[in-house]
Amino acid sequence: MEKSLANQQFLNIDENFKIIKENVANAALKSGRDEKDISIMAVTKTVEPEYINYAINKGINLIGENRVQEFLSKKDDLNLDKCNAHLIGHLQTNKARQIVPYVSMIQSVDSIKIAKEISKQSKKNDLIMDILLEVNIGNEQSKIGFDSSQVLDACYEIAQLESVRIKGLMTIPPICDNNAKSQTFFSNMSKLFIDIRDKKIDNVYMDILSMGMSGDYTQAIMEGSNLIRIGSALFGARVYN
Ligand SMILES: *Cc1c(COP(=O)(O)O)cnc(C)c1O
Repeated sequence: MEKSLANQQFLNIDENFKIIKENVANAALKSGRDEKDISIMAVTKTVEPEYINYAINKGINLIGENRVQEFLSKKDDLNLDKCNAHLIGHLQTNKARQIVPYVSMIQSVDSIKIAKEISKQSKKNDLIMDILLEVNIGNEQSKIGFDSSQVLDACYEIAQLESVRIKGLMTIPPICDNNAKSQTFFSNMSKLFIDIRDKKIDNVYMDILSMGMSGDYTQAIMEGSNLIRIGSALFGARVYN
């Protein structure tokens, strides 16, 4: 990229990150929580490593990638010493082997089958993988994830696996044309999260509720999210090649 454009992009990231932190602090305050308890993930799909590293230098300590191949091709250029990486996109069984050694969490566990494969590959690598179960909170036909009615049973079953540890839930709610609707989805997620947490299932740690993206993260925080996944509000609109 031309140098002046790149410089402008760095300034934009700076400015965007400041705004996001302010909004997070305000939403935390309003919902009676500490902003430190809310993790801001930078979603880095389609973003060049130089910009990701810039965000890391500015204090981002968590990134999320959707695709195994894209992450593997970028990871050697990223400053991941002080930054964790999570997989947040659908994982195919045959790709689990490749990603397991390189991420600290897989947020997009959407079937028992993939949980089993992650456990198997984690065991081979002599590690325990932290995972979130992805919930299809809008019960959309087109979408992956567990239906809300299936999540509890899935927790019991996955908790038996040797080399994964359930750390919470993740969701991408349906695209909503009004705030009241998306608020309902977020609040339903929160209820599900708390219900499962209260059951105190062995090997299930309901610590992380991952919900909220660029357009709705303050709302998600108000409803109890403690991990927001921010792409375009930080890096600008994505350009797909
Ligand atoms: C792309 C993506 C995001 C970020 O989306 P923005 O609207 O750009 O913030 C968050 N979560 C998941 C799972 C994504 O795929």
